Order: sequence, then structure tokens, then C-alpha cells
Amino acid sequence: MILLERIADHYNDIADQTAVDSVSDGVVSYGELWEKSGKLANYIEEKMGADKSPIVVYGHKQPYMIIYFLACVRSGRAYCPEDISVPDDRVRSIIERTGCGMILTAEKEHDVLSGAAAEVIDIDKAEEIEAVQPEMITEDKAVSGSDTFYIIFTSGSTGTPKGVQISADDLDSFTSWSIHLGYGPEDKEGAVFMNQAPFSFDLSVMDLYTSLASGGTLKTIDRKTQDDMSALMKTFGESHLNYWISTPSFATMCCGMPEFCEDHMPDMRAFLFCGEALTNTTARRLREKFPKAKIVNTYGPTEATCAVTSAEITDEMINSDEPLPVGVPGPNTRINIRGLDGREMPEGERGEIIISGKNVSTGYFRDEAQTDKVFFDDGMRHYHSGDEGFIKEGQLHFTERMDFQIKYHGYRIELGDIENNLLKEPGIDAAAVVPRMREGAVKNLVAFIAGMGDPKDPFGEGKKIKDALREKLPDYMIPKKIVFLDKMPVTPNGKADRKALKGMVR
Ligand code: AMP
Repeated sequence: MILLERIADHYNDIADQTAVDSVSDGVVSYGELWEKSGKLANYIEEKMGADKSPIVVYGHKQPYMIIYFLACVRSGRAYCPEDISVPDDRVRSIIERTGCGMILTAEKEHDVLSGAAAEVIDIDKAEEIEAVQPEMITEDKAVSGSDTFYIIFTSGSTGTPKGVQISADDLDSFTSWSIHLGYGPEDKEGAVFMNQAPFSFDLSVMDLYTSLASGGTLKTIDRKTQDDMSALMKTFGESHLNYWISTPSFATMCCGMPEFCEDHMPDMRAFLFCGEALTNTTARRLREKFPKAKIVNTYGPTEATCAVTSAEITDEMINSDEPLPVGVPGPNTRINIRGLDGREMPEGERGEIIISGKNVSTGYFRDEAQTDKVFFDDGMRHYHSGDEGFIKEGQLHFTERMDFQIKYHGYRIELGDIENNLLKEPGIDAAAVVPRMREGAVKNLVAFIAGMGDPKDPFGEGKKIKDALREKLPDYMIPKKIVFLDKMPVTPNGKADRKALKGMVR
């Protein structure tokens, strides 16, 4: 696999260079990354033998997370990253669904893993293994071709997350393109890439593997630092960041800080965005604050390996009245716009964005029915994105979702996921979640529920429901407000009348 070969080359050529630098959990060099992951891979292979099930990797921003990812794939097994922000119930259900025989964790406290029928390896144990394992694994054991490299679970409309499988070939296709984003690969060796997204969110693939493929240093920024603006600005000032990878929401938030500017972060070369719409306003503010840095808008779903199109944002685009384009596809990808009847739409007309080519996933983990709904293969892989868009002058433009999936601060949420979890609560007969919008972006979520009548203490009851949801769903999926209805308004075909509900949240 090209990516692993590149990392092996860095081990030979730049072993002392820092590969991963975390805010509070130390650093690892390319030498350590390769040796530690090679020895752990040997251990995994010895212990697991014929069991090729994926391995869950649980933790946050520790450099050990990356050592573990590489250990899994070098042993020939996919990894499934789970961040500490994922609620315990969801982590447990993912462990069960993957049937993993081993879990690697970078967390000292990991009670959530205790009930699992799998061997749990933490950092202490990993270090013991590395001390006694004489050799690294041989490269012929590593995942390659259509073998799954990682599985990322995303929100599923039924209330059960979907595991997107990304193969070694998919990731090679992605990184062979992503190393050219902003500047060429020659400029990226030794460069510092910011990691903001949790590793369980596929946006992190852009910083992690673009950095490792090009011999850069990944600066991981933990949640605690991200939640403290002055600590965050201090970290930015000290980190010599060159490449910024985040959702536009995160950059918009940082734009409010005076330190977030070229004087304080003079090494910034490019801002790479993905995951949600980049607005002209945010792009303009960034241009003012970082006049020398490039701004690159990219687009793509987890199902097509993070991103498939890119546009370098010009001043002309920023200052026009048109929303910013998401750009042109990479060399291994084809984008088509299809109408409801499946026919290709002419230039400028809206339809569903169909993504085809080498980045497209092999499908959802052990879920043929879901896979068959959105993927198809005619010698080439194709994915129905569920996104609406159009092509104008060669550039793809994203317009809106065609279903009930939304983006909230860059996080992908199926409203059905929240609704189905609400329906599991006693007394709730009907549930519909509606996003409250501000300037085209989701500001927060409002849940309408019926079946519980008109409680005496709606605030207290609402809090109880939110607390119950928190056990199952990540924080960003918890509705801000719960509205109790006598009866759910419905459309003539019996579905929740979202239009009427939307009218009630304004
Ligand atoms: P995820 O799988 O979490 O990366 O989410 C993928 C979805 O995010 C896409 O299907 C789009 O709906 C949305 N998305 C990704 N990139 C962009 C972008 N540049 N502009 C607007 N929406 C985007």
C-alpha cells in the first residue's frame, strides 16, 4: 500500500522527525511510530491468528492512537476509532457489532471497555509488549487493495450508527490527491498540520493521513484546549501551524479572537475545509486575518473517503454574491448530477450528486441492505450522496441535503437517529426533531414529542429526557429544547409535518 510505504520511507529517511505532537500527551517521532506499531502489530498477529475482525481503538488525541491505528493495519486488520466523546452505550454497541477480539486504548480510565469480550491493551501493556517483542511485523501482513483499512461509524437514520468501510485502495486514492491540496507534497515534508476533529470523525483523515503521507508533523489539539479559547490561542501561537484542517464552524469561532491572525500565527500556509458549507463571510474574515494563506474548500462524505472535490477560494469568489463552490474532483473521481429520473442534468441544473471512482467505499460494515440502497457497482464504484448540487463552469456547487441528514458544527446527524432514540423513552409515542436555523446554518435542535401530555414541570421532564438521551447519543445530538405536544401534526400521508413544526421554532 502506497501510504504505508511512504511512512516506512519516512522511518528510513526522517526517523527523528516528530510525526505526532499532542498538546498534553507528548510526541512520537517517525522512528518510534514505525517501530512501536510494528512490534504491536506482531503481537496482534500472534494473539489473533485467524481472527481478522476489526480492532476498536479507543481514546482521544494521544499519539498512541496513531501508533495503534498503524499497528492494526500492519497486522492486516482494520481499525475502528472511537473517541472519548462517543457515549458509553454507543461505544459498547459498536464493540459488540464489530465482534472485535481486541481493543487498544490510549485512555488510563477505560471502564466502558470492561464488559467487552475482548482483550484490552492499554498504554502500559503496549509498552510492556514493545519492550519484549523482538521484531517488527513483516510488511506482507499489512492490509492492501480492497482490504478494509478503517471503519468509521456515522449517524444512521434508524437510530443505529452505520459503519463506513474504507479500504487501503480508497485511502491511497485519497492521499495521492490530498497531498496536493493547497501546495504540493514537496512543500509538506516537515510541515505542521493541525488536527482538530476527533479521530472518530472522518474529517481527521484529511489531516492525519495527508500529514503522514507527506512526512509532516500532526499537531493534535485536545477537547480541553479547544474548549478554552485563551489556551487554544496560546497553543496556536506556539505550534508553528502550516496547514489548518477543520470544519468551517471551528474557524468561524476562532475568527472572534484577536490573536487568530497572521501576526500571531505567521507560519500559516493554507486553510483546508470540509464537512459543511464554507460561507463567504467566514472566507472573507480569514482573508483579512491571514492575507498570505490559501483557503481551500473541499467536499465529500465519509462514504467517499473524506473529500473528493476542492476549490481554491479566490477574492473574486469571496466577493461575489454566489455561495462558494466546492470545486473540481480529483483525478480518481467523477462527479455526476442526476435528476429524479436518473438522467444526467445539464450544466447549471440541480440534482443529486453522484460520486464515482476509487475513493468510494466498499459499503457499510455487515449491512448489505443499507449498502445496496446507496452504493452501486458497474465496474466502478458509485455512491448516491443524498446531497443536492449543480455544476457550473466545471465547479461543483453544493446546495442542500435531499433528506433528513443535517450538519451541526460540522457533525453529521441523521434526525431519525435522535427521533428513534427518543421513541425508546417511556411515554413518548411520536417524536420529530427540527433544526433551528440562523444565517443558513443550524443553530440548535428542537425536539417535538407527543404522548406525554402536558407535563406540570416541562423543564424538569425535558431535562430527564435529555439526560436519558445523553447515555446513548453524543452531546452535539442532544436537542436544546424539548417541546411537549398533545398530538404530533401530520401530513396527509401520515408523516410528521416538519413544515408546520419548523414554523413553531421560529
Ligand atoms: P461526513 O460524512 O460527516 O463528512 O458528512 C458528509 C456530508 O457533509 C456531505 O454529504 C455533505 O452533506 C456535507 N458536506 C461535506 N463537505 C461540504 C462542503 N464543503 N459544503 C457543504 N456541505 C458539505
